[in-house]
Amino acid sequence: MIIRPRRLRANQKIRDLVRETVLTKNDLIMPLFIDENLNAGDKKEIPSMPNQYRFSIDGVVEECKEIADLGIPAVILFGIPRYKDEIASSAYDKNGVIQKSIRKIKDELGDELLIIADTCLCEYTSHGHCGLIKDNKVLNDETLEILSKIALSYAESGVDVVAPSDMMDGRVGRIRSVLEENDYKDVAIMSYAAKYASSFYGPFRDAAESSPKSSIKDRKTYQMDYGNSREALREIELDINEGADMVLVKPALPYLDILKMAKENFNVPVGGYCVSGEYSMIEAAAQNGWLNREEAIMEALYCIKRAGADFIITYWAKEVANLL
Ligand SMILES: [Zn+2]
Repeated sequence: MIIRPRRLRANQKIRDLVRETVLTKNDLIMPLFIDENLNAGDKKEIPSMPNQYRFSIDGVVEECKEIADLGIPAVILFGIPRYKDEIASSAYDKNGVIQKSIRKIKDELGDELLIIADTCLCEYTSHGHCGLIKDNKVLNDETLEILSKIALSYAESGVDVVAPSDMMDGRVGRIRSVLEENDYKDVAIMSYAAKYASSFYGPFRDAAESSPKSSIKDRKTYQMDYGNSREALREIELDINEGADMVLVKPALPYLDILKMAKENFNVPVGGYCVSGEYSMIEAAAQNGWLNREEAIMEALYCIKRAGADFIITYWAKEVANLL
């Protein structure tokens, strides 16, 4: 007797019936860039990310309404401030670009949309690093002080979730205790627990103006080495023990093994960040007619989910919500 697995692939109905992984709108988080230098109503396309924009503070409120109407549950916000300095002071300014945006979005949309705020220094420092710098070194413990100030000011503005993306040691614990002390017990932490030093972030740096500009040219002393996987488990374990409610693996597609390990080893929700380079790679190939854009997008996101992601941060969130 021949075993015939093809019987279950004979038509779309039966394929749908036996499909193991399902992608829904509820899995999606849309990243948004807010540029304090833009006037109300202006938006600026990001050259290396076709169809992705930087919004003004007013513009992002309108964009969030559209996103909520599409049934997408959450956005993650990144800010481009008017003013940068050595210590990222505009990141924890009560009237900073993200703080203002959170208040405006919450005023308009209330609980219709979850607001996650990326919590880091790199978009706000003149040197472009995720930590403070002294004597050609990225300082760890001194940076925690700034990170917890940023997280607290986002909490004061009404954020639902803070997402520390800096990869300093001990930051989740520090942020958690500052939030508890100030009675923001309900603000969740989504930590970028396994964040790799990746060349796939290239277009994002275009979008967020966050390339390292100091004599320290890369982020390899704090982001992870792409040759390592067990180290990711250690990073995730530390963040969970320090109080992370959810963890992220970033990037996603070249790191599906890490997503799978994270899902199998821990009992907290795991997310995959499908980063700018993954987006631009497919967009560029599609522009050249080298692959079917919509099919490639769906396949990419399904594979991230299949590998273990409970949710996906993706620049295609709006488009995929329309297709689903
Ligand atoms: Zn950063």
